[in-house]
Amino acid sequence: MAKRPLFLDRDGVINKRLKGDYVRYPHQFVFENRALDALRTLAELFYPIIVVSNQAGVGKGLIALEDVEVVHQYMLSKVEDAGGRIDKVYFCPHHPEEGCLCRKPALGMAYRAQCDFPELIFEEAWMVGDSLSDMQMGSSLGMRTALILGKEEEAALLEAFPVARRFHSLWDFAVYCRAEASSSSENC
Ligand SMILES: [Mg+2]
Repeated sequence: MAKRPLFLDRDGVINKRLKGDYVRYPHQFVFENRALDALRTLAELFYPIIVVSNQAGVGKGLIALEDVEVVHQYMLSKVEDAGGRIDKVYFCPHHPEEGCLCRKPALGMAYRAQCDFPELIFEEAWMVGDSLSDMQMGSSLGMRTALILGKEEEAALLEAFPVARRFHSLWDFAVYCRAEASSSSENC
């Protein structure tokens, strides 16, 4: 079965969110429970696996661009060591009020991914995130949307959003996808 594209939000999906702060250094980047196992499982099912992350701390002058890159190198090396795969990381460094075209729910990062992976078909993709903006970006492009529960600040907004599926973690999502893939291959 051909692998489908997967878009992942970062904070609150792959790593634990720092409430009221930004992940500035690798030691602050703490993987969510079983996220590394999830990424290993997802690597068997999806290609490309793309991270799309809003990092407004850069535009606010709180984190240097280079520090975000260092954190991402750390993330990628840990994922690879655990047998997983992330094919590309995009992040929006702009301040929320800058009016850029890449801060989710804007679609700039998804379109950059389409340039880098021309075979990518949005309608075949999943978007996994913990924020309303993730769900909006995914549904704007016809993706299936998976909400990782836990962002209580946006719970009421998300309650009203017609996402297809809700999960407690990226690991739960991976288990669901593995089961779905095995049942569809049995049906072939
Ligand atoms: Mg998030």
